[in-house]
Amino acid sequence: MERRAKISITKSLFDGHIEKNIVFPFPKQREEEREIVGELLEAWKKFSKEKINPAKMDEEGRIPENVIKEMANLGFLGISIPEDYGGAGLSQWANCQVMEALAVTDASVATFFGAHLSLCSKGILYHGNEEQKKKFLPLLTGGEKIGAYALTEASAGSDPSSIKTSAKPTEDGKYYILNGTKQFITNGGYKGIYLVFARTEDDKITGFIVPGDSEGLTVSKEEKKMGIKASSTSEIVLDNVKVPSENILGEKGHGMRIALEILDWGRLGLAAGCTGGAKALTRMASDYASQRVQFGSPISNFELIKKKIAHMAFLSYAMESMVYLTASISENPDLDFSLESSICKTFCSEGLWEIANEALQIAGGYGYIQEYPYEKVVRDARINTIFEGTNEIQRMFISLYGIKEIGDYLKRVGKAIQSPFSSLGVLKDFALKEVKKRIAKEKIEGISDVLKRERKILEDYVHELGLRTEGIIKKYGKKIVEREYIQERLSDIAIYLYGMLATLSRTDTLIKTKGKEACRHEINLCKAFFFHARKHIRHRLSYLERNIDKTWSSISDWVVENKEPYKFFL
Ligand SMILES: Cc1cc2nc3c(=O)[nH]c(=O)nc-3n(C[C@H](O)[C@H](O)[C@H](O)COP(=O)(O)OP(=O)(O)OC[C@H]3O[C@@H](n4cnc5c(N)ncnc54)[C@H](O)[C@@H]3O)c2cc1C
Repeated sequence: MERRAKISITKSLFDGHIEKNIVFPFPKQREEEREIVGELLEAWKKFSKEKINPAKMDEEGRIPENVIKEMANLGFLGISIPEDYGGAGLSQWANCQVMEALAVTDASVATFFGAHLSLCSKGILYHGNEEQKKKFLPLLTGGEKIGAYALTEASAGSDPSSIKTSAKPTEDGKYYILNGTKQFITNGGYKGIYLVFARTEDDKITGFIVPGDSEGLTVSKEEKKMGIKASSTSEIVLDNVKVPSENILGEKGHGMRIALEILDWGRLGLAAGCTGGAKALTRMASDYASQRVQFGSPISNFELIKKKIAHMAFLSYAMESMVYLTASISENPDLDFSLESSICKTFCSEGLWEIANEALQIAGGYGYIQEYPYEKVVRDARINTIFEGTNEIQRMFISLYGIKEIGDYLKRVGKAIQSPFSSLGVLKDFALKEVKKRIAKEKIEGISDVLKRERKILEDYVHELGLRTEGIIKKYGKKIVEREYIQERLSDIAIYLYGMLATLSRTDTLIKTKGKEACRHEINLCKAFFFHARKHIRHRLSYLERNIDKTWSSISDWVVENKEPYKFFL
């Protein structure tokens, strides 16, 4: 199953262009699938209510076997794996719905599911050969083996290209001998099937499918964590582990690209989990606020609590819109969804963190007490901005990968200017694009009247992002790679614009399907999200280049050198 990377909605946003035909109308799940998933989720809800005790799992630090068994029975462990390999053959949309439901039950269960399906099984599905798929996927979809993804090492976290685990071929070329230590591996303790990334003799990175019962593979440590305590996070030692050459995942030497592409699925799943958590917390907090009485009134009547509940609701709405738009584009082989998956991961992990914090605040002192669910939720939510690539790394990726093609294009134009007569085609194309970009603003036609203000805001900011991106590339050239402050601002703008796009499309499609009166609430959510996103975009644009970046750097350098925040006190 090959994925051809072509159009990217986010790359287009950086170029001042809106991929209207892809985003409008908002995608829809197949009716038949919606029914199937609905029944499965009902069954899970019933099971989890009766049989799962998240507080106990948190205390004991493990997911009971019957929970994993039920996930396998319901087909969750292979929900988006084709039936030919023992899966349920449903879509990525369904995969995200399951992830949401599991996250509502417990974040450890969702983490387990994400590593198993998105990182291991999907890795084999998209990068393995037919034999590997036939051999390993049925074991994973049935839950006979639990999947894990082993990239991180003690000295290689955000920079996985520096991994040291080695893979040396035997003389006859039939095997590779793996040596090294992998760190923080989710599901590592199950000794099921690992995707291990190692450095081969050509000094390139290669992925291997490594069965957990391989001689020399040991689980040397189970980490004790702040949250998601029931999920297994382990250190894996590979001591002369002999792996057959036919277990190479994809092409030898292409492991880094494969490892990163696999994470596209993981990040989208993670974002879906955050969305499920966010919605559940919004329900929980609003329920609490309507029952808790202070000053003779339910606290939900007070404006400062209303503001929090509204914030939780419109963020959840935006998160969900972004996740399901991305789930839908992830299945179109003509589209590249890596930036959108990264955007979803960043936005939803931070959204959940804000929402968890607000839910705890609404619960007041009770929120801080272990007997209530909030403190666990806050502990559990914290990991999402760290694993599957920290949000700092996501932001660098979103902007640098997002603007790369524009940079390459401008470089070609720059070269063409040096020899204009032999490059008339390039220059003519550039001149036309420039005129179009500067004069003609992208328009989204046919949006419901009630959302015309939001449509205009989106069009204006996409236009401005296109112009500002070009200006920045021209100004910094290759040096943009070192300017993380600017990268962060550009990516934040793209993140919010993608959120606006998804939310606008969804709300407009809802209005057209159900009528304006029926979706008053959703219209309000859309408007509130636009107000919120606009504030953030404006802020980033205003100090994109005129800022105090140098002051920040000099403060930080001083602090790092002196190991103190400051020296004097008067
Ligand atoms: C519970 C848990 C489960 C995990 N599961 C898995 C798994 O299943 N498989 C797996 O392979 N890994 C897994 N990981 C590892 C995880 O992906 C890494 O911890 C993460 O990528 C960060 O790496 P690091 O911890 O080494 O931090 P570092 O890379 O040391 O980063 C430290 C800080 O510096 C920042 N930073 C680093 N470089 C830059 C830069 N260039 N610019 C700006 N800031 C920068 C980071 O954002 C971070 O804030 C897991 C980790 C945890 C905690």
